[in-house]
Amino acid sequence: MAPLRGLSVLVATLPSLAWAVCPETSPPYLGVAVSTCCAALASYFPDSTFARDNSQSSTYYREKTAFWSATEWLDPTCVFLPSSTDEVSIAVSIFSEEGCPFAIRGGGHSAIRGAANIDNGILVSMKRIRDITMSPDNSTVTIGMGLTWSEVYPAIEPLGYMVVGGRFATVGTGLALGAGFSFFANSHGLAIDNVAGHRVVLGNGTVVDTDAEHHPELYWALKGTSNNFGVVTHLTLQTVPHRGMYGGRVTYPPSVLPQLKRLTYQYQVETAERDIDTHVLPSYVYDGATNTTYGFSPIVYNQAVDALPESLQPWLDVEHDNSTIKSNSYVDLAEELVAGFPDGLVQTHFTFTVYPNESYLSYILDKWVEFCSSISHIEGLTGLQTVMPISTLAIEKSGINNPLGLDRAEPGRPLTVFYLGLQFNNVEDIDEVFPAWGVFIRTMEAEAKLQDLLFPYIMLPYSDGTQQAIASYGERNVKRLQEVQERYDPDLVFQRLVTGGQKIPLNPPS
Ligand SMILES: Cc1cc2nc3c(=O)[nH]c(=O)nc-3n(C[C@H](O)[C@H](O)[C@H](O)COP(=O)(O)OP(=O)(O)OC[C@H]3O[C@@H](n4cnc5c(N)ncnc54)[C@H](O)[C@@H]3O)c2cc1C
Repeated sequence: MAPLRGLSVLVATLPSLAWAVCPETSPPYLGVAVSTCCAALASYFPDSTFARDNSQSSTYYREKTAFWSATEWLDPTCVFLPSSTDEVSIAVSIFSEEGCPFAIRGGGHSAIRGAANIDNGILVSMKRIRDITMSPDNSTVTIGMGLTWSEVYPAIEPLGYMVVGGRFATVGTGLALGAGFSFFANSHGLAIDNVAGHRVVLGNGTVVDTDAEHHPELYWALKGTSNNFGVVTHLTLQTVPHRGMYGGRVTYPPSVLPQLKRLTYQYQVETAERDIDTHVLPSYVYDGATNTTYGFSPIVYNQAVDALPESLQPWLDVEHDNSTIKSNSYVDLAEELVAGFPDGLVQTHFTFTVYPNESYLSYILDKWVEFCSSISHIEGLTGLQTVMPISTLAIEKSGINNPLGLDRAEPGRPLTVFYLGLQFNNVEDIDEVFPAWGVFIRTMEAEAKLQDLLFPYIMLPYSDGTQQAIASYGERNVKRLQEVQERYDPDLVFQRLVTGGQKIPLNPPS
């Protein structure tokens, strides 16, 4: 589709409206442009454009607060809910022409302030783009970017298929633009490596379909760079034949942490390597109210069986408080898992990657518990540490097929990605928690470096805004991304106007 032209003329003739910028909050250099863009959107799409209205029942308010983390509750000038790729194309043309800052929201699960919401700009929420189409031979499924994983799975599981998507119900498709751990991580690799194509609206409003044959450089670049190249309206995902599933979550008491540490390490280096139909998400929860840490692990076998295989049995042999493991569906498990992750609390999470080492895994858990205990007075404090393997098979699949740079790993060695998160009730506590938390993470990374275990990869979907996720992909890939950017976004629309989240470094790698 050709980009829209002559918008200046159109918007100049629009009456100036309820979009009048709120003078006390809008920076003067942005205010006029943003109100112009909101007015233009309202004239094209009156039913899809929502002016600032902070009454709690308004669509505007609901959209601006529809985020997992309270760090993302910002104050956009207007909210736009497009229903089709064409509508996104018109909107992006308006934003580019008028120089209006905007944010793109998928499922709203990033905790990075400004990654998917914006102060004094336009919040584009993808939630109305929700079509799902199976290919005639069922080998792929094309999904709208407004869907969550628990909306995708019920449409395909009954047909005998699954996709390499998220494990928690309400998470959105942004996962498959960043990396993506799934129930199939050991057998199929990362979500991005199972994306067969993208439909994307570029900075000038042009719509492009990518796959291995069409726009192959953009196809490569979109696997791990989130909102840096365009607004993705659809993903085409390779399907996975559904072979049944046996799984659930197991909750462990604090007394068995030593056994869990051992199992967690063994899972990284043995089980995930040898039995690729297994999936475990070894997780530890710190509960500030009781100052205790317990285990909580989703455990899945991707086959129709009526008992866990021997490779996973040790997870049930350890004393546990509760197990929901049974013959299950992925959507039911995704719903069950997300139950403990409510929207609207303050969230912060960091990530980094190491070569798995038993004593380091034990060390980081102990230190993290110590750190959490030191701030246990913070109201509502809960910590979450998860320890996720990228198996050698997944690394091989990733290789040079995406920009992450996992091909830099030593051959034959798996990697471990840490998710280190904190949650608490009040934004007023951010100033006390965040600086100390940042220092703690830095010391953990430094210790991994000292022990020669640190691998230079920051997984974008789990990263904090202070981490340089895309720079971590390595000089060669950053340079290639910059070249793709020069070709597909020569005016740097997605650097200048979409400033939130992880960005491709602007300078040439040194
Ligand atoms: C409870 C919970 C469970 C999780 N489980 C998993 C898991 O199992 N596996 C895993 O790998 N990760 C998981 N994550 C991390 C998750 O992948 C990231 O938070 C991811 O960013 C979520 O995508 P989203 O669409 O919900 O987020 P959003 O915050 O809406 O988007 C994230 C980023 O992607 C960009 N983006 C979103 N949609 C588009 C689009 N259409 N075009 C261009 N850019 C876009 C946004 O601008 C933003 O910068 C989980 C997170 C949470 C909070």
